[in-house]
Amino acid sequence: MPLAREAVELLVQAARAWYFEGNQHGLRDREWMALRFLGRANRFSRTPSALAGFIGATRATASQIVKTLEAKSFLVRKPSQEDKRSVVLHVTAQGEKCLNQHDPINHVLNAVNSLGTEECIRLRDSLREILNHLDAAHQRLDASICRDCMFLAERSPSTGKGRVTAEFMCRLYRAPVSLQETELLCTSFERTRDRPKIEENLDRAARVASQG
Ligand code: SF4
Repeated sequence: MPLAREAVELLVQAARAWYFEGNQHGLRDREWMALRFLGRANRFSRTPSALAGFIGATRATASQIVKTLEAKSFLVRKPSQEDKRSVVLHVTAQGEKCLNQHDPINHVLNAVNSLGTEECIRLRDSLREILNHLDAAHQRLDASICRDCMFLAERSPSTGKGRVTAEFMCRLYRAPVSLQETELLCTSFERTRDRPKIEENLDRAARVASQG
């Protein structure tokens, strides 16, 4: 238990590294959280209601945040290709540049990256395990990446004009999902413990990339 307590105290100290009062580079904490989420979310989750759920805000607050980000040209709304009555939020090139240069979590990202690939994988897996326990206790999960989701099904690559178009299928939305999209966040995520293949392949790719 003293070891667990020490680890939790370190986690709390680490959290202080990215929490701030007021604003940084013109955005408040929740606005950064929203921009970061929308920059990493898949097309099903870049909606005002999914955003509200992820940042733990009301629809009205989320809508105000969207307006602020739009006013700064970090975000645009476009009609959804799946449902023309809905809108999908897109982070603009300017929004991405702002995230790359000024996101308050960037220095934490660099510190974690400096641990090296193996240690990063261990840290990710430990944190995921901790979140699983917490989510089970509180019956909630904000979002996670597609490749760990029980609705993701592998399918044979189909080709159009000689080009591979999609490698996976989402059985919830009944829509194709590309390999790149399996790395994005989704608020409809449901965990499965039975998808080691994609995960192992991607971890192996990360190890190879870090050696190259
Ligand atoms: S497979 Fe799961 S995580 Fe991926 S889009 Fe479908 S519901 Fe979302």
